[in-house]
Amino acid sequence: MEYISTRNNQKIFTFKDIFLKGLADDGGLFIPKSVKPFSKEEINNFKNLSYNDLAAEIINPFIGDFMSKDDLISLISKSYSNFRTKNVVNINKLGNLKVLELFHGPTLAFKDIAMQLIGNFYEHHLNFEQKKINIVVATSGDTGAAAIDALKGKKNLNVFVLHPNNRISPVQRKLMTTCEASNVFNIAIQGNFDDCQNLVKAMFNDEKFSKSINMSGVNSINWARIIAQAVYYFYAYFKVGNGQPLSFSVPTGNFGDIYAGYLAKKLGLPIDKLVVATNKNDILHRAISGGDYSQKKVMETNTPSMDIQIASNFERLLYDVKDCNSEVTKDLMIKIKNNTYKIDTEDLGKIQKNFISEMLDENETIEMIKKINDEHQTVVDPHTAVGIGAVKKLGIEKNCVVLSTAHPCKFPKAIEDAIFKTENLPNSLKYVNERKEKFELLSNDIQKVKKYVMNSI
Ligand SMILES: *Cc1c(COP(=O)(O)O)cnc(C)c1O
Repeated sequence: MEYISTRNNQKIFTFKDIFLKGLADDGGLFIPKSVKPFSKEEINNFKNLSYNDLAAEIINPFIGDFMSKDDLISLISKSYSNFRTKNVVNINKLGNLKVLELFHGPTLAFKDIAMQLIGNFYEHHLNFEQKKINIVVATSGDTGAAAIDALKGKKNLNVFVLHPNNRISPVQRKLMTTCEASNVFNIAIQGNFDDCQNLVKAMFNDEKFSKSINMSGVNSINWARIIAQAVYYFYAYFKVGNGQPLSFSVPTGNFGDIYAGYLAKKLGLPIDKLVVATNKNDILHRAISGGDYSQKKVMETNTPSMDIQIASNFERLLYDVKDCNSEVTKDLMIKIKNNTYKIDTEDLGKIQKNFISEMLDENETIEMIKKINDEHQTVVDPHTAVGIGAVKKLGIEKNCVVLSTAHPCKFPKAIEDAIFKTENLPNSLKYVNERKEKFELLSNDIQKVKKYVMNSI
């Protein structure tokens, strides 16, 4: 499969290129030049596959000669062998509503599903090219832990994770800072998530620095994450679709997870609507319901993994909406940067064919956790509650699957506020409360961060 950048569709890249680079040099996002849907017959043949076999069928066309299908199959099986449920994910029924639990991986959030695979993709690559890779990533809480677990102890590879000091939940922090592997470096930045993200971008943009350390990235714009996430849309469809098109509700921040659903639809899966569920950082809800894509200041909420105003992956959708015209997309991204972009009626119509949206504020989120616990004796995390609440507000509970993105024990404060109960860590992870934490506290200063990285490798 050939890949291009959303801002220049003339230059062709291989999967290996785009996997290792993450972001295109022109600032655009990598996507396939074209996506060929599976035929009805092919999709029908996927019906009874195990999660791992299904993953191999869906991922294989995207990776070209990066590895053989046999290697891919064994790598998938290795990636998911430590999940706490047999088929990677679980589907739970809450009355009419189906909940797709994606949090049974090692760090209790959906991000493990893609990240475990990516960790092994790096390892595979390093079997052939032994030039040491340094991965630098910013996290608002869940990405960092998933990356660390996926990359800890891997040969010829270091991982540096920047998190905003004191702005993530203690469980989220401990899952990162109690890792004892010598190739893992945690940095607490005195600033917010945007500061962390800007530091990483500045390091990437400093070509001399990034080349000298052979820098790579695993944030949510990496295309490999999108394909790994498309798999569970298929899996859910085969389990509960009953031959009818399904809608999916997705708690959304960076537009990555829901874009994977859009990709599944492009691959031929009968998906009706994709529901963008946001907290009060509602740029995507304003955009999809009325075309208003103006950025506001990020607010802290009880769903911190969605406290985002720049939904990077949205660019991939806009490229499609603009009929795959990379010049137009490039101009449009400049408008977005200057905060002068409004989606016009025609484009909005195209978006609304596939997407609808809703927003829950913090009180509504807490109320929803309580309501679900009262009615179904099930505790859901606050992000999942936003996904469920959106479906209820829209009144489309029938034939709808909500993606449950994190284990409730990751966000104990919200759970206590809602139902006055403590949600415990799974036994296999209790150790994080006992082990000593290790991280470096640095000010929001690019020179200091670069120096720390240089001195550590
Ligand atoms: C990252 C994350 C999200 C948002 O996913 P995006 O791909 O950024 O839209 C939602 N819920 C949880 C728990 C997350 O960790």
